[in-house]
Amino acid sequence: MAAGNRTSLTDSGLISRAAGALNPQEVSAGFWVGDVGAAVEAEDGQVFTGACIGGHLSVCAELGAVSQLVASTAPTITRIVAVWRDPADGALHIIPPCGRCRELLRVISQRNLEATVILGPGHTTTLRDLLPVPGWHAERVDPETT
Ligand SMILES: [Zn+2]
Repeated sequence: MAAGNRTSLTDSGLISRAAGALNPQEVSAGFWVGDVGAAVEAEDGQVFTGACIGGHLSVCAELGAVSQLVASTAPTITRIVAVWRDPADGALHIIPPCGRCRELLRVISQRNLEATVILGPGHTTTLRDLLPVPGWHAERVDPETT
């Protein structure tokens, strides 16, 4: 679900783009696809969207959006958001990237640690804050202290 047009979106505009990637379908018992949508904004302003392929084989919506990103431009993003719409009442919810997606974003570009992660209306953080000890971390243990 690529949409590589360059824009200057507000956070709510990016949220709308993520919501536009929603296409919930229960393709087999308990196996949903398209029930989470994501949008990422590249450093060059392009926006890419993706939808999740859920269940035990899980491919996150963020991964779909990042796949479109890397197919078109550099792997560094400035913002990311993912959304899910509650089928019970139709309310849209913003959800944070899972740990795998956070680590993937860091691995493809260290600059992504400074990317804005939209957590809610008027509520943002950075990927760095969601990955407080990113990457390989090893602290030597002195044998005399153990
Ligand atoms: Zn994920």
